[in-house]
Amino acid sequence: MRFEIKVLGSSSAMPTKTRNLSAQVLNINEKFFLIDCGEGTQIHLKRFGVKFTRINHIFISHLHGDHFFGLIGLLATLQLLGRQKEMQIFCPDELEPIIRNQLEASNTFISYPLVFIPLEEGVKDLILDKKDLQVYSFPLRHRIPTWGFLFTEKEQKRKLKKDFVARHNIPINQFENIKEGADFTDENGVLYENRIMTKAPPKSRSFAYCSDTKYSPGIIDYFKGVDVLYHEATFAEDKIKEARDKFHSTARQAAEIAKGAEAGKLLIGHFSARYENVSVLLREAQAVFPNTIAVEDGEAYGIE
Ligand SMILES: [Zn+2]
Repeated sequence: MRFEIKVLGSSSAMPTKTRNLSAQVLNINEKFFLIDCGEGTQIHLKRFGVKFTRINHIFISHLHGDHFFGLIGLLATLQLLGRQKEMQIFCPDELEPIIRNQLEASNTFISYPLVFIPLEEGVKDLILDKKDLQVYSFPLRHRIPTWGFLFTEKEQKRKLKKDFVARHNIPINQFENIKEGADFTDENGVLYENRIMTKAPPKSRSFAYCSDTKYSPGIIDYFKGVDVLYHEATFAEDKIKEARDKFHSTARQAAEIAKGAEAGKLLIGHFSARYENVSVLLREAQAVFPNTIAVEDGEAYGIE
């Protein structure tokens, strides 16, 4: 099963020659979740080969333009493509009237259901509960209300050892109980322990998205033990004061958060446009948290 983050944009505030504005697609088993939607996101989805039609959920972290100016264009294109399926948008509650106004002013009619789900301020909140996945929002610390998102696979049931159950004629009507952990006793009184009939399921995976935020160790508890953390790293350490003043983080601070959270891997992005080469940011982060990657637009980062 695939669990992969594709970065569409990793520049902060304004695009550069090589970096677009914030947007990512999380691909969980070919279901796509769009996180932030900076200007031009629909173009970058196309360029990087992401199928629009597979996106049914969009998550907008906050209402700075570099995180949502691409939304109106994407929604209009989906209409032109004949979309009928509902689109759910998890976002600050002020976004719905903004989008409705843009649609009205431009005479754009959307016929597929567009559902806005406002994010709850100040708490970790379960916002999406699917068969195999849960998504939580949690508060970040930025100049305006801003949310991070945590995607976690649900724990799967134990897997049957197919050969074993076939060989011992374990009845099919017992399979569900056995996957839940039950033992089985046959008509002759022979006990089959669960661990003989089943094996452990694959480990459930998780991804947390933190952009934009100032350095804030208080957020660590929201995603402790996460497999992959994406954390903004707008500035290098020599600009720590600027980072603080603008409610952003340095690369080292992003690494401190990953370390505190005992994350498996750290992805840094949302780089200030001043860094044509982000190696200084990567170096500073890796000094604290070695398993750090500075993301590139169009690249995909998988979780095994
Ligand atoms: Zn931003």
